[in-house]
Amino acid sequence: ESVSNIIAAGEVVENPASMIKELLENSLDAGADSVKIEVFNGGKDVKISDNGSGMEKNDMMLSIERHATSKISTKDDIFNLMTYGFRGEALASISSVSKMTISTKTKESNVGYKLTAYAGSIRNVEEISRNNGTEIEIRDLFYNTPARKKFLRKESTEYNKIRDIVLKEALVNYDTAFTLIFDDKPSIKTSGKGIENTILELFGKNVLKNLKKFEHGYLGSVEILRSSKDYIFTYVNKRYVKSNTIERAVLDGYYTKLMKGKYPFAVIFLNTDPKEIDVNVHPSKKIVKFSNDKIIYTQIKSAMDDYFYLEER
Ligand code: ADP
Ligand code: MG
Repeated sequence: ESVSNIIAAGEVVENPASMIKELLENSLDAGADSVKIEVFNGGKDVKISDNGSGMEKNDMMLSIERHATSKISTKDDIFNLMTYGFRGEALASISSVSKMTISTKTKESNVGYKLTAYAGSIRNVEEISRNNGTEIEIRDLFYNTPARKKFLRKESTEYNKIRDIVLKEALVNYDTAFTLIFDDKPSIKTSGKGIENTILELFGKNVLKNLKKFEHGYLGSVEILRSSKDYIFTYVNKRYVKSNTIERAVLDGYYTKLMKGKYPFAVIFLNTDPKEIDVNVHPSKKIVKFSNDKIIYTQIKSAMDDYFYLEER
């Protein structure tokens, strides 16, 4: 059992950033509109607190068991609109390779609970008093799997990966306030007051000033061209993805405006029937294909053509 958790942890907890993504998505699934992430020691120590639903004592005890999911899903559909979680493996995996403390309280209960587990085994459970919501603290990530620990990169590299993940979550979850802190230094702070305010908080005044809203999101003007495609933020059903089709449509939409080696800043939100998304493409690589590829391309490209046509007149 614990061996299989450690094996599963290889997939869920590839690095601190992928671990934080899972924890963040649990907070969002719990309906939190405020999430704070504090990171220390290159991501080996992490504390994440939210004001979501919290857990009852029993659910807290179960949460670190493998396949203990409170989220019902008919199939392994990662593009399910309702929740991010679907396998009930994240907490089991993370706890199997760390020292974990869960503190939690529901609004229906007048006391909270705190669980401590080392390498996935529960060491202590106690009653505590605390606010509604959940705080999960991970200490000494990979302390019992030294071989894995060796694969951690230098702190700044891990922090860049974490920042990137949190930024992409904060951008699409613009009604949720995010705080990300590295070794007591603030890195990201959003207030959850809508998409435009979130763009302002993440990218600054100059970017917001040079963005225009179109049918499927926001398009940056030539004032804010970038030297990589990484600033075409694409989300399908609220999940960050890479899609060659969408990227192509965006680049083609800009065709007369792009200089060689320059790419636009754009934020694209697309909703589509999960059935139209090709599941053969590995979810962790986030590259998606659509079965209705041509329709998706045309949808975005023509929205952009309309938009640029109007803008140029
Ligand atoms: P999954 O998200 O796939 O259900 P996880 O291992 O990520 O599996 O979480 C296990 C369970 O623990 C969740 O189904 C949920 O009930 C509970 N849980 C985890 N994190 C939180 C949180 N921040 N707030 C409330 N409940 C949580
Ligand atoms: Mg989860």
